[in-house]
Amino acid sequence: MAYDQNNIFAKILRGEAPCFKVFEDDMTLSFMDVMPQAEGHTLVIPKYPAENIFDLDPEYAAAMAKTVRRIAPAVRKAFDVPGILVAQLNGSAAGQTVFHIHTHIIPRTDGIDLKFHAREMADFKQLEKHAGMVKAALQ
Ligand code: AMP
Repeated sequence: MAYDQNNIFAKILRGEAPCFKVFEDDMTLSFMDVMPQAEGHTLVIPKYPAENIFDLDPEYAAAMAKTVRRIAPAVRKAFDVPGILVAQLNGSAAGQTVFHIHTHIIPRTDGIDLKFHAREMADFKQLEKHAGMVKAALQ
């Protein structure tokens, strides 16, 4: 399948759709997931037109990993959780729903189940607040 330039994350990268941004550098962007599976669910995407791991430039794969390494501790600190799930889905058979590669960073706490994947839209005021919490933890 060819990369779809109109997928929602491509639009976010072009500034044509909004996001609750927490971090950006030359090669990556990080923002809050709008249908979080837990409070603080954050995404990292490369500024590179790849659907998934199979067509991602290795330099951008490395940049993504570096940004995930930076954001995950900030999310853990901001939401004061003992665990962080880092996940990346490749292909619809693996559950991928947005076809611009991204890594999920999801707070985990013992005894609290994850919410359903990409199901329920969060309150935007909350997402804005959560983005602020992650940004503060990055300082
Ligand atoms: P995946 O199923 O791994 O492709 O995950 C896509 C993720 O993107 C899901 O967790 C969705 O909740 C999330 N998502 C979809 N649209 C947006 C959006 N406009 N801004 C932020 N996150 C989004």
